[in-house]
Amino acid sequence: MPGQDPFEGVTPVSIAGDADNRRMTITWNDGHASELTYEWLRWHCPCASCAGEGGAPGELAFTTELTADQTMLDDLQLVGSYGMSPTWKDGHHTGIYTFRALRAMCPCPECDARRRSTAASPS
Ligand SMILES: [Zn+2]
Ligand SMILES: [Zn+2]
Repeated sequence: MPGQDPFEGVTPVSIAGDADNRRMTITWNDGHASELTYEWLRWHCPCASCAGEGGAPGELAFTTELTADQTMLDDLQLVGSYGMSPTWKDGHHTGIYTFRALRAMCPCPECDARRRSTAASPS
């Protein structure tokens, strides 16, 4: 059905941090696994100051390069059962990444190809 959320009810079964390689792997209950680098996560921080709000661009729109501290994960808190909130080394911690959004944004080649084909087909 058009408009139906394909990721409704998708939640992580495990979140494995890999500090040495500065990334985490989220394994989902639909069988998929997303490998997310800390840098990718920080670039996709959904908070109002990073991503903007109400049509106004956020700080990331004016950022060309992130600092080492901005992409170093200090802590990771779960937010209810629907999301997670990383604390970055530079003290930033207001971004709440919902699992549904992360699953939809998964940067792996397979998901990238699926998003492209979905966008291309008028259906
Ligand atoms: Zn942010
Ligand atoms: Zn994927």
